[in-house]
Amino acid sequence: MSLVSVFDMFKIGIGPSSSHTLGPWRIVQRFLRELASTPGFDAPDRLRFELLGSLALTGHGHATDTAIALAMLGEEPETVDVAAIPRLVADLAARRSVELGGRSVPFDPATDIIFNRRERHPGHANAIRAVAIVGDASLERVYFSLGGGFVSAASEGDEPAVDRPAPPHPIQHATDWLRHCETLGVRLSDVVLANERAWWPETEIRSRLVALWETMRASIRRGCRGDGVLPGGLNVKRRAPDFLRDVVPEISRDDIDRLMLTIRAAKLPYEQAIRIISCFAIAVNEENAAMGRVVTAPTNGAAGVIPAVMMYRACFATDPVTEDDVVRYLLTAGQVGALFKQNATISAAMGGCQAEIGVSSAMAAAGLAELMGATPGQALVAAEIAMEHHLGMTCDPVGGLVQIPCIERNAMGAVKAIAAAAIAAYTDPACTRVSLDDIIEVMWETAKEMNERYKETSLGGLAVRLSVTVGLAEC
Ligand code: SF4
Repeated sequence: MSLVSVFDMFKIGIGPSSSHTLGPWRIVQRFLRELASTPGFDAPDRLRFELLGSLALTGHGHATDTAIALAMLGEEPETVDVAAIPRLVADLAARRSVELGGRSVPFDPATDIIFNRRERHPGHANAIRAVAIVGDASLERVYFSLGGGFVSAASEGDEPAVDRPAPPHPIQHATDWLRHCETLGVRLSDVVLANERAWWPETEIRSRLVALWETMRASIRRGCRGDGVLPGGLNVKRRAPDFLRDVVPEISRDDIDRLMLTIRAAKLPYEQAIRIISCFAIAVNEENAAMGRVVTAPTNGAAGVIPAVMMYRACFATDPVTEDDVVRYLLTAGQVGALFKQNATISAAMGGCQAEIGVSSAMAAAGLAELMGATPGQALVAAEIAMEHHLGMTCDPVGGLVQIPCIERNAMGAVKAIAAAAIAAYTDPACTRVSLDDIIEVMWETAKEMNERYKETSLGGLAVRLSVTVGLAEC
């Protein structure tokens, strides 16, 4: 399938997880649409959602029940008032009904959302069994949450149905992309833009990409201001504001442009620059952990890497970043993500953290290399290097929350992406021994052989080392 758009890879949503929050949200919406067009089931007597596999094991920490409740209330992830979510969910819990098909339908999240920890669907690690009941009849569907907010019906397998015309320069593998660049004599982002134009007008492509960047910047700004402790019981302190304290005065953090100018003017030594870049990644993922609004890139758990690397460019490159830079960066990064989506996975439940942080780092590395003036071959080498050094990374979120090790992993993914782009810029692609296509294939092989305990189940690694049930002291 070479029909994945960059706008499939970048979606505006809320935290903490694209597979466990955004995906279930979309599944409920899809089920409700299906019911609305099924005679007799448009206003059922009862609805039930049963979470299977990873969704059941880590769904509480990933706010899967909250996402289902919000979807049942008719909210959209792009527009829901984040501050109002606790009240909306509490009101539904008290009322125990939703409006469907013009009438009130009983729905109690406490009993109608079931975390079935004993059953795993053979077709996918993240499955939801949705049931609508009318009298003695029932209608049952099974859906998969594929990672990055992608969903499919079980009958479609793990390939969501896409109805789009074929693009002029189909890209199934990195070699296709490079061949198009060489044939046309253009950069990586030019080929992606030409393909996207088969699906949307160019003005819309550009304005949507700029809007995504604005949402990323807003999540950084909020994260750099957000003090306190993250929700969920781990008592994780929000650290992003501390990382900036000595460089950026409080007042500049209200305005992202002034924040960038302040950092540019500071001419920081290396270790402080690394701290600031890490701060941007951590800011986004602290927002994500607090159910704030972020852009999946390609997932929520890895949402901080791509914004942090772009902020690195904006704060530390010689020339200021232009709107065209933003467009080229996101087009290139998005297509690298699409390669992993098409040929491997971007789901931690299928491939561990290499599929989230590893992919986001590869995306950011290629995007940055493109902005640095690397050749198409060098930019693809950057993506390969970034993934090569995330291979085998496990997913073991403590308490099923997207906090430890997730937040810091975004900082590490960003720093590795910058290093990968720098190395690639001085590498002759003809002399490399491992291609991006090789590494995607190896990542997928590694994913398939990885023990289930390390694939977003919280049954291994750090997740069992740190006990949440006894509580961790606030610091
Ligand atoms: S450990 Fe990695 S893959 Fe797992 S939830 Fe955290 S960020 Fe996502």
